[in-house]
Amino acid sequence: MVEKARLSHRLTHGELVTLLAGGGADGALFAAADRVRREQVGEEVHLRGLIEFSNLCRQDCLYCGLRRSNPGVRRFQLAIGEILEMAREAAESGYRTVVLQSGESAAYPTGAMVELLHGLKALGLTVALSVGEKTRREYEAYRRAGADRYLLRIETTDARLYERMSPGMSWANRVRCLMDLRRLGYEVGTGCLVGLPGQSLASLADDLLFFQALDADMVGIGPFIPNPETPLGAAAPGSLALSMKMMALARLLLPDINIPATTAMEVLHPQGRLLALMRGANVAMPNATSGPARSLYALYPGKVCAQETPRHCRSCFGEKIQSLGRPIGTGNGARIRS
Ligand code: SAH
Ligand code: SF4
Repeated sequence: MVEKARLSHRLTHGELVTLLAGGGADGALFAAADRVRREQVGEEVHLRGLIEFSNLCRQDCLYCGLRRSNPGVRRFQLAIGEILEMAREAAESGYRTVVLQSGESAAYPTGAMVELLHGLKALGLTVALSVGEKTRREYEAYRRAGADRYLLRIETTDARLYERMSPGMSWANRVRCLMDLRRLGYEVGTGCLVGLPGQSLASLADDLLFFQALDADMVGIGPFIPNPETPLGAAAPGSLALSMKMMALARLLLPDINIPATTAMEVLHPQGRLLALMRGANVAMPNATSGPARSLYALYPGKVCAQETPRHCRSCFGEKIQSLGRPIGTGNGARIRS
């Protein structure tokens, strides 16, 4: 099955479930994902500087520390000038791409986002946004102002589970957002959480087929990490091994896309991101946020490098990548279709 997938980039739902369930083929799966990664997207590891610019959120996702019902969060909202300053530092320390992430809120009206995007583009950066569900008009305005990429995980393709996890949100609207982003010419990143309470292997297999049907340009997969400040604080964490298998299978199904080694993997294992880079991933997003925002943006506990400086993270992570014998990407790391 692994060999078939390596050559054809196709697996049925049943085959995906078998590979997710079986432990015996894990080594072969990881080796095949690493090989496909090398053949299709090469050895370079592309770094994106992650700027977490506000933890305000109007949504109430049960798993997330930023949910509006969490009274323990000291909320912050960086000014446009502060965000641009962080982006300038990121550009100076060598990043070609920044990812601007926040909770979902109306704190930055379209005009403010447009101003921010113009400033980021003037720095010569490729820009990815990850600011949640917006109207088509808003996505259109961001795109016109220069946004290149957008990251919006579907989280789970099980619509009922999704709506249970995110009360008041609609799975159909999440899909609408992804379709709008696609039509507007963004490079679209999506992905899922692994290990949500009530999630089955069949549903994870659906997630992989969804990424393939959407022809996602980027797929980020991370284990669910229980946050004690949320209603799921006592739930079991997602499995790192299963998250890695999901990631490796995403590489086999979508050979030429960008796949990040996600930070949540490193929360569960001190070398989680390096392992991911050896099992199909070709991208990492070191944290480029500075000041109090860096620790106040807490989706889950145990956030790595919360006390470091962006510069330290950039060079530390750069060294780790070089220890794998892989070069750091010098371009902007856009998807190149094979
Ligand atoms: N508000 C935006 C972006 C910020 S959240 C959005 O929701 O799209 C970014 C990602 O963090 C989410 O997509 C989710 O998959 C992840 N996340 C949130 N809480 C988490 C947790 N407890 N464990 C692991 N990942 C989590
Ligand atoms: Fe808000 Fe995103 Fe967290 Fe949901 S996952 S509560 S939308 S920040």
